[in-house]
Amino acid sequence: MTHFKLHIGITHYQPGWEIILSQIGVDWSICNFSSSLSSNDFSVIILNGYVNEETAYSLQRYVKSGGAVLTINGYGKNIFFKTSTSRYYSTLHPNEVEDGMWHSLFDFPGTFQTEENPSIDFEKGFVLSLPFDVNALIISTNAVRKNFWFEGVLRYPNEITAGVSKGGLRKLVQHKLMRLHHFRKLPFIHKWYFPQQAQTVFTFRVDTDSGTQEQLTTLFELCRQFVIPTEWFVDVQSHEQQLSLFRSFNSQEIGVHCYRHKIFYDYEQDKNNFSTAKQLLERQDIIPNGIALPYGTWTETLGKIIQELHFPFSSEFALNYDDLPFFPFCENQFSTTLQLPIHPVSIGIMKRARFTEDEMREYYLHLIDRYAVFREPICLYHHPTHLHFSVFKSVFEKIRNLNILTLSYSQYNDWWRKRLLTNPSYEYDATKNSVQVKGNMQESVHLRLTLHDEEIFIPSHGIFSLEKLSKRKELRSHTIPQYAKKIRRFDWRHLLINILEKKYKARQ
Ligand SMILES: [Zn+2]
Repeated sequence: MTHFKLHIGITHYQPGWEIILSQIGVDWSICNFSSSLSSNDFSVIILNGYVNEETAYSLQRYVKSGGAVLTINGYGKNIFFKTSTSRYYSTLHPNEVEDGMWHSLFDFPGTFQTEENPSIDFEKGFVLSLPFDVNALIISTNAVRKNFWFEGVLRYPNEITAGVSKGGLRKLVQHKLMRLHHFRKLPFIHKWYFPQQAQTVFTFRVDTDSGTQEQLTTLFELCRQFVIPTEWFVDVQSHEQQLSLFRSFNSQEIGVHCYRHKIFYDYEQDKNNFSTAKQLLERQDIIPNGIALPYGTWTETLGKIIQELHFPFSSEFALNYDDLPFFPFCENQFSTTLQLPIHPVSIGIMKRARFTEDEMREYYLHLIDRYAVFREPICLYHHPTHLHFSVFKSVFEKIRNLNILTLSYSQYNDWWRKRLLTNPSYEYDATKNSVQVKGNMQESVHLRLTLHDEEIFIPSHGIFSLEKLSKRKELRSHTIPQYAKKIRRFDWRHLLINILEKKYKARQ
């Protein structure tokens, strides 16, 4: 047999895996163990739970005949590995995980199982193990105050964000899946993350937080000058007397931030707060197209409220940051509101870390370089009251000079949903060294195929020869330095900031 399906199987359904596999954009399904597993039908199988003896035997046979398995959090013990060891993880540098495949530190807090010493001869197949409980980490809603790395400063900007580096975990899983395909001399194929073959995207949002008319207008003009499709999340109570101003921002998009700039942590009060904001905007003939909650806060109850108010998208860094879009899993089901993660470091928190304006500018310009190389989305935000508009002038200039695709929030939301509806299947012909892409493809959703250190982009369905692949970029030298791990040491300033912020939030 020289035909291989490029299709990933997973032994147990888990929502965290659904999130991550749809972000990566691979063709996947839950394994059906009623028939035998063929290495021609599954390019890789993910073992993410306990299996009975019969299934274990079937997985062993699949590997021995040339298949590849990714074992998760110790579930490969007694099937593929003799032993497993419990280990506590917190923060890892990319060098400690998979050399040079992520631009930031990995925060994977928890005790996980690492596997050691193969217990069977894999014969023609391959097994890799990943110690982390991917599902638990991805659906975790725990938020913590974190420092963000920047070379040469005394104080690091910090913000309350998702405790887990979910974007980093996605990239790690993708890297393992890719390696297993390549071990088998099979190409790894997935839907590309951005429209057409754009190498990254830039999005920009403003949380209006009591900005004056002059501040709002200055920022609006700057965005218009560089044709940056900005999303304005309106803090409605602060601008109640000037809401019509936002109607004049007609080339840009308007969303809800809040009525009162506060999270009540009470279902009725929170729902009322956001629906009041929505109604007041609608009364001004402004139809808000999404929401971003105050302080980037996210809880399952807030997630439910956002969905009940029919917002198509929202953006909260306490749930996730620096990642691709996804539907949050809340109260045991997937939300219908798409989460659009951003980078959480704003000018306000750089000011608190006593950054000079030049340092603020350098922070963002450096971030753009790094994320562009890693082909990760660049999603920034600003508050008009924090001024330093010239920093964003430099940011916008750089985005334009690098020819980075800019998307409005609604364009990003619409395109991602289109990507989710594109689900082709793939077959590799080893004799002809070609891939056949079957099924409907949306015009702007392309595929990326990698084989060893080479890649090719595929624009549509059909048969594609893999003769002309081009070299992938070496990422190792673009990651953060090893000593950047020091930012995760205990930082007494966080305690102080937590107390001050709690008092500030209570006054709102
Ligand atoms: Zn705000």
